[in-house]
This record gives sequence, structure tokens and C-alpha cells, in this order.
Amino acid sequence: MAYKGRVQDPLSIRVLVLNRLWQAVHIVPAKRALQLLSLEHARVLHPSGDGGWQVWPSTEWFELSYDQPANGRDHYVHTVRQAVRIPKIILLNDYGELPLKEVHLNRQSIFERDGHCCQYCGRTFKSQELNLDHVIPRERGGVMSWENIVTSCIPCNTRKGNRTPAEAQMRLMKKPKQPKSRPFVTYIIGQEVEDEWHNFLHTRHEFTDVEIIPVKGEPRPLEAVVG
Ligand SMILES: [Zn+2]
Repeated sequence: MAYKGRVQDPLSIRVLVLNRLWQAVHIVPAKRALQLLSLEHARVLHPSGDGGWQVWPSTEWFELSYDQPANGRDHYVHTVRQAVRIPKIILLNDYGELPLKEVHLNRQSIFERDGHCCQYCGRTFKSQELNLDHVIPRERGGVMSWENIVTSCIPCNTRKGNRTPAEAQMRLMKKPKQPKSRPFVTYIIGQEVEDEWHNFLHTRHEFTDVEIIPVKGEPRPLEAVVG
């Protein structure tokens, strides 16, 4: 059980969503997961007890919830008729794509893009020893963009000051650009998650190696499936 403290609202508990190829594509609140089950758009993936996994059609899952009394470890929501056990993982029935998400521009994603390497002196530092440098300084109209922000160590950042690299006679290690979009799963690696999720959060660190399933016809937006 990875949640810290008391869970206030069981319907907001996070449920991992897998596509039909058992690849993590999303996280939804329990309320939405139960709707997807009720609509038979998804099934439950639950540990089988022998180290494997069992797929539960929604009707059987709801019956199981009814048959097995609350065990204190799992969360339940109480409907008018019965208590329903909240699954940890659901499996979409007919969604087989692996959508890519755009990387958000922030301090950590810039450091990751640049490999924690100061783009002026080329040395590697811990996050707390690094700054973000506006290549074209803000005072000169430089904006916060993938192309104008680089990782810099504090001494290089101080040395450059409010000058352009040319004025400061400092060269960038490489031309800064927007990183490629990457699978959803790479965003949750390292986060605190349910134990059961770990089986589905493995991916090679280089997201370019992740196998992307070719899509026939127009790819469906995931939002159209999971809401
Ligand atoms: Zn430096």
C-alpha cells in the first residue's frame, strides 16, 4: 500500500489504465475507472495470487466485490446496492495504441534534456548546483522556450551574466531544442505508486527505444476512450 495518510475520497483514488497490450497509457480516478468497467470498455487486472495476473470482466469483478467482504487492505465504494472494490489496474478492451505526450517545459525537464550537463563548460552537476540560463537574456527579449533555455552551472551562469553567448565568448555545447514526445509511462517512473503498478511501469530509460505500435488509419485520441 503506497498511499500515505488517510484517503479522503475513495472515488479519487488513482487507477492505472493499460491498453489492451498491457502497456500503461493513463491514470484515472477510481470514479472514472468504475464507469469504464460499467460501460464494459475495460476489465480489471488483478494479481492471481500465484505471481501472475487475472483478467476480470467487469460483471465478475462486481460480483467478486459482493461476495468478498472488505478486507481492510483494499478500498471500496458503497453504491445503493452493494460495495464495489476499487481495482488498482484496469485494461482497456479495444485500445491498442501507445500515445506519446509532449514533454512539459520546466526546470527538471531542461536538466533532463541536457543530461544535467552545463551547456557552457560541459561538466555534470546535481540539480541543486545548476541554474537555468536564458541564452538570449530576458532583458534582451529572450523568452522561456526550449530553444532559449539551457542548463548552466552557477559559475558559468554568473560569468555569462546578461550577455549573449557571443558577447560573453562562451559557446553552447549543442543547439537547444524541444525534446521528442514520449510515452506516458516515462512520466510516472520514480513517482510513488501502488506496488501492483510496478510490473507495468518498466521501460528502457531511453524512451526512443520503446516500441511504438503502428496505428492503422487515424489514431484515436486517448481522451476519446478514457474521458
Ligand atoms: Zn558550467
